[in-house]
Amino acid sequence: MAVYNPASLKAEEFINDGEIRETLAYAEANKNNIELIDRILEKARPKKGEKGWVCSGLTHREASVLLACEIPGKIEEIYKIAEEIKMAYYGNRIVIFAPLYLSNYCVNGCLYCPYHLKNKHIARKKLTQDEVRSEVIALQDMGHKRLAIEAGEDPVNNPIEYILDCIKTIYSVHHKNGDIRRVNVNIAATTVDNYRKLKEAGIGTYILFQETYHKESYLRLHPTGPKHDYDYHTEAMDRAMEGGIDDVGLGVLFGLELYRYEFAGLLMHAEHLEAVHGVGPHTISVPRVKHADDIDPDAFDNGIDDETFAKITACIRLAVPYTGMIISTRESQAVRGRLLRLGISQISGASRTSVGGYTEKERPHDTEQFDVSDQRTLDEVVRWLMENNHVPSFCTACYRAGRTGDRFMALCKSGQILNCCHPNALMTLSEYLEDYASPETKKIGYEMIERELNRIPREKTREIARQNIEDIRNSGRRDFRF
Ligand code: SAM
Repeated sequence: MAVYNPASLKAEEFINDGEIRETLAYAEANKNNIELIDRILEKARPKKGEKGWVCSGLTHREASVLLACEIPGKIEEIYKIAEEIKMAYYGNRIVIFAPLYLSNYCVNGCLYCPYHLKNKHIARKKLTQDEVRSEVIALQDMGHKRLAIEAGEDPVNNPIEYILDCIKTIYSVHHKNGDIRRVNVNIAATTVDNYRKLKEAGIGTYILFQETYHKESYLRLHPTGPKHDYDYHTEAMDRAMEGGIDDVGLGVLFGLELYRYEFAGLLMHAEHLEAVHGVGPHTISVPRVKHADDIDPDAFDNGIDDETFAKITACIRLAVPYTGMIISTRESQAVRGRLLRLGISQISGASRTSVGGYTEKERPHDTEQFDVSDQRTLDEVVRWLMENNHVPSFCTACYRAGRTGDRFMALCKSGQILNCCHPNALMTLSEYLEDYASPETKKIGYEMIERELNRIPREKTREIARQNIEDIRNSGRRDFRF
């Protein structure tokens, strides 16, 4: 029988079923243990250190106790601490991105995904490089600077060379004042060699959702195709890091399996990355299964309600305070609004989940991956964020300055985010307001910028940011390297 070992490179040892089961039993036995819960909450709370806030995070066992806890007052405290951590590390900035679907050709048989091979009524489409260009222009015209590219797994239609060509095309498009400064990649698990090629192509984060950590369910939900190989999929992040990719993004598709199992697995995966590579995941995504062509989310028994979803998000925030958290347009405005307070640091806006969707006037459904709940325009999302006191950020400076992996974590841990990320966020917001915003959004935006500039602690930094924003407004300067 496999033994739990976070530092092992074998999936069955770092995502160890026995350890997860013991964790769930421990959490169940202690869910009313107020003394233990208070100790865990105290450990999770941000503390003021010499250089700024310090958070210790939680182990998967500790966080699982909080997730199991049903004592109302304690749940409120979990939410409160999640908000404190969010504000301590990330402040009120929210990074914005959009997915770009390149191809929905896929040879896998994933039961929850409409791109599965046996789906004969979905239209299959793969963008040509000219079409990639048109999509990127449409995205730049909205104001996007950061993309996550998405593709099905198909070695014939979407080989790595195709993905690399697309990345090159994306970075080459400079339409008016637009450019895409960071391309994150969400493609199927692949080889160290291919990860190396992605790294050389200048990608940001490599994102791969585990879907489920429960091996038996994984094998049943992925009955055919290369994705059926649980170990190959689960060990992908180690290969990505071996290939030189510093930033990796984890996630599970909530609804497929029991959420407490997934939660423990997800945190064990984060602990594994830290143990082996010295740096945890750059991001964690929390998607829930959605209705899609040929897919009924009710066919999966483990759907979670909004309250549980909020609790999961908050408990992840407490467990891995330095990891960015992403929520997509799978969720409604109301759910996104709530989760933003509990630790989310990145959201997508105005997403189209179809191949070629951004160049269509109406949202096309024929090649769509799943229903989008939040269908607002980017301008509406940006304005809504500001009305709720979040600063929309289009910044990609960390990645450009080489602050990835452990260097980003070091910045986070040094408490310098307000002196570094905050001014960059305001400058990129100013670019957005000048180039793409409606008059109403622009007005609210500059009121926010004025308020937020005053929150930058270091005077010199504050003055440079103010001067740069003046330049963006008055001289149309766009040569900053955000
Ligand atoms: N083919 C790649 C892979 O296997 O990882 C790329 C990812 S796919 C384009 C992006 C993600 O969408 C999947 O990892 C899955 O979690 C999610 N997804 C698939 N079907 C979904 C559905 N019906 N509702 C919500 N999310 C879904």
